[in-house]
Amino acid sequence: MDLGISGKVALVTGGSAGIGLAAAKSLAREGCDVCVTARNPERLADAVVELQEFGKVVHAVLADVEDPTAARRVVEETRDVLGPVDILVANAGGPPRGRFDEATLADWDVAVQRNLLGTVRLIHAVLPEMRSRGWGRIVTITSRSAREALDGLALSNATRSAVAGVVRTLAREVAGDGVLVNNVMPGPIDTERLRELAEDEDVLAERGKGVPVGRIGRAEEVGDVVAFLASERASYVNGISMLVDGGESRVIA
Ligand code: NAD
Repeated sequence: MDLGISGKVALVTGGSAGIGLAAAKSLAREGCDVCVTARNPERLADAVVELQEFGKVVHAVLADVEDPTAARRVVEETRDVLGPVDILVANAGGPPRGRFDEATLADWDVAVQRNLLGTVRLIHAVLPEMRSRGWGRIVTITSRSAREALDGLALSNATRSAVAGVVRTLAREVAGDGVLVNNVMPGPIDTERLRELAEDEDVLAERGKGVPVGRIGRAEEVGDVVAFLASERASYVNGISMLVDGGESRVIA
């Protein structure tokens, strides 16, 4: 299936590793020019090399989504180098684990900046041009915790569900201008983040056995779903939060 996005410009934040890098690769494979952002210059440079293998124009910007000035700067630089952003994949690292009574107010502040306001600022920065040009795709990356209150993930449960609320609301407001907004909720995916949380390979394998598909997911399996939602082929999909969790969630709706 041709996703119909060849030649589009995609911006992927948190794009130097894991799910963000996988989404950037899927989009580049479909013919998008891609701008990736992250905080670590060496890792960002490595990501650029990997992405250049797809033969499209790749640009990288050092940026921390927690920085209130980053979104506008990144979007402007992408426009200057690649053209106006057609596709935004709003992604970053997740908040720390912990129960409600373990999180300090400072932890809340960081989680809200990184995982809620960082996304809102990026959307603010790309939306006017998407609307005036009559085409745009926004895909947020959250977690299963956007739908289900997961134990020991107080900050994630609160900020991810807030993003899902933003997506549902915005999707209704901007679809008439050709801009579609959706959210992806990964389950357990084999990335550095998951490996940091698990103690060793056996713990990961055991975790995978609890998933109906029988294993932990691969970052590319999320990246391809992101590319589909960002595509012309998903032109009647709007405002949803889609699980990519191998069937782990028991929630029906
Ligand atoms: P990862 O740690 O492997 O990669 C995160 C990427 O974001 C890296 O490129 C990192 O440099 C970048 N990043 C982190 N904080 C940033 C910031 N403040 N500003 C800019 N870039 C930043 O993580 P991942 O597993 O790919 O996860 C991506 C998102 O998906 C996270 O929000 C994570 O919580 C969520 N998620 C992951 C899983 C999983 O099992 N891996 C499950 C559910 C949700």
